[in-house]
Amino acid sequence: MRNINKVIIHASATKPNQKVNADIIRNWHKSKGWLDIGYHFVILPDGTIEIGRPIEKAGAHVKGHNFDSIGICLIGGLNLKGKPENNFTENQFNSLGLLVDGFKWQFNISEIKGHRDYSPDKNKDGKITKNEWVKVCPCFDVGEWYESRTKEINTGKSKMEKQAKDGMVKLFTDVDSNSNDNNKNLNSSRKRKSRRSSSNSTNG
Ligand SMILES: [Zn+2]
Repeated sequence: MRNINKVIIHASATKPNQKVNADIIRNWHKSKGWLDIGYHFVILPDGTIEIGRPIEKAGAHVKGHNFDSIGICLIGGLNLKGKPENNFTENQFNSLGLLVDGFKWQFNISEIKGHRDYSPDKNKDGKITKNEWVKVCPCFDVGEWYESRTKEINTGKSKMEKQAKDGMVKLFTDVDSNSNDNNKNLNSSRKRKSRRSSSNSTNG
């Protein structure tokens, strides 16, 4: 397996009324003389993940970064007038998140960015800003998306942990109070028994 450390996100730059999938993009790219589709994965508007180029092979999606990256293309990115728009569905973002999580688990991923973030840093300030973008692809801020997703997951996690903790505290409080009751009952029944037995003994 080649050394993979980046996940780069793209848009197909197609309109909502265009039906596009991995096979269609494969045909586009092959008609340019390429061996195969340039992306490793394609995510359809319903969230379906289609396999493009095998991940062990370098893709063809961002010049200079193909050798060590995985390229994912979301279908969409243009409105009906052909203007760039973040019109990707929740299902697409969910599938994208799952893919990225999988790659982070499997590889040593240090960068999760959009195509436009690899534009040349003209003013050398270490940041790729809008005025430097060669392309708008993938039509949304990948860094922002990933950050808010991570935040959401962590909030969900800590909420679940709190619920689990509260549940455990309640469970043990219940067990404690029950066992105290049991002890009380046990003690009083012992007392009752001993009283009975002592009175028996006086009688006897
Ligand atoms: Zn792109």
